Amino acid sequence: MKRKVKAVVARANNAPVSVEEILVDPPEQGEVTIRMEACGVCHTDLSAATGVIPMPLPMVLGHEGAGVVVEVGQGVTALAVGDRVVSSFVSMCGHCRYCSTGRPQLCDQAAKAVCTLPNGGIRTHDLNGNPLHVFSGCGVMAEYATLHADNVIKVGADVSMECCALISCGVMTGVGAVINTARLTAGSIAIVFGAGGVGLNAIQGCAIAGASMIVAVDRSDAKLDLARLFGATHVVNATQEDNVVRTLKKLTGGGADYAFECVGLGSVVAQAYGALRKGGMAVVVGVAGTKDDTSIRTASLTFEEKTLTGSYYGSARPREDFPRLMSLYRAGRLKLDELITHRYRIYEAPQAFDDLTHGRNARGMIVLG
Ligand SMILES: [Zn+2]
Ligand SMILES: [Zn+2]
Repeated sequence: MKRKVKAVVARANNAPVSVEEILVDPPEQGEVTIRMEACGVCHTDLSAATGVIPMPLPMVLGHEGAGVVVEVGQGVTALAVGDRVVSSFVSMCGHCRYCSTGRPQLCDQAAKAVCTLPNGGIRTHDLNGNPLHVFSGCGVMAEYATLHADNVIKVGADVSMECCALISCGVMTGVGAVINTARLTAGSIAIVFGAGGVGLNAIQGCAIAGASMIVAVDRSDAKLDLARLFGATHVVNATQEDNVVRTLKKLTGGGADYAFECVGLGSVVAQAYGALRKGGMAVVVGVAGTKDDTSIRTASLTFEEKTLTGSYYGSARPREDFPRLMSLYRAGRLKLDELITHRYRIYEAPQAFDDLTHGRNARGMIVLG
């Protein structure tokens, strides 16, 4: 059946997000409809709404959601009504060269469908029947959402829906950059630039992997206090430094083994790369604007054997990694509850995005239902 539900919609790049009643179609072949219970407010939603990431509007936001399956389309065998699930903002076809070689975060199908379901379908319309795009094949900042099963991961019953939602983007992206992309070795020295929703998770990823020194760099003392809670052993407020790279090299005794850029700015990428010791690896996690670029001294690649690489979605294999992260949470080694610094009802979404713009949260969480 068609459902009339509330959803958070981006209509124009220069306007606040709106909370609207929309229509959600029932699932078609290979799809499921989910009653959403929680959805994190991620910086990428903001970038899509403001146009930093160019996207066709209007579009239903949300790609960090958790809920319960209420309807299953034909051909879906791995999911059933009543299953607790989270969204994956990359769909995984299971057949392309990337899926086949263990890199589903780079799935060709996902790359083609960033504002519709993977088959190009749209199951969301406004009350006049005009189609609404969905962010990253999800659009889960809504009371109900119809997703392709390739974007849905079943989760256990013993972790709260809010914590499950967190794992599906911010935690996977930050922790995954450390343990999947960089494969940080125990005893290493790490620097994390940016202590927001993703950066805090990179910091705790470094702690889980056994880094001996974790330096957090941010422009906000409040964020740096949170960074300590998540495992930072040292903090640097970039606004207090004339030369951040020089300070970091001195603090780390010559440079870090790993640096994680969780801001999405070419100038910070250059700092991350610059703060490495010989043989070090800089990992770009933040999502930069399409016109942003960076500059490094080319000869340093050769003479110092440094690595500059990127990490998309924490190099996630969601069906393998989400349960793995939940095991770490159950074991008391992964902080999730501490990430949620403010909860909002759906009608408060404009405030949630304003708070995100001004860096007032580690993670804001929209509680649905
Ligand atoms: Zn996200
Ligand atoms: Zn694929």
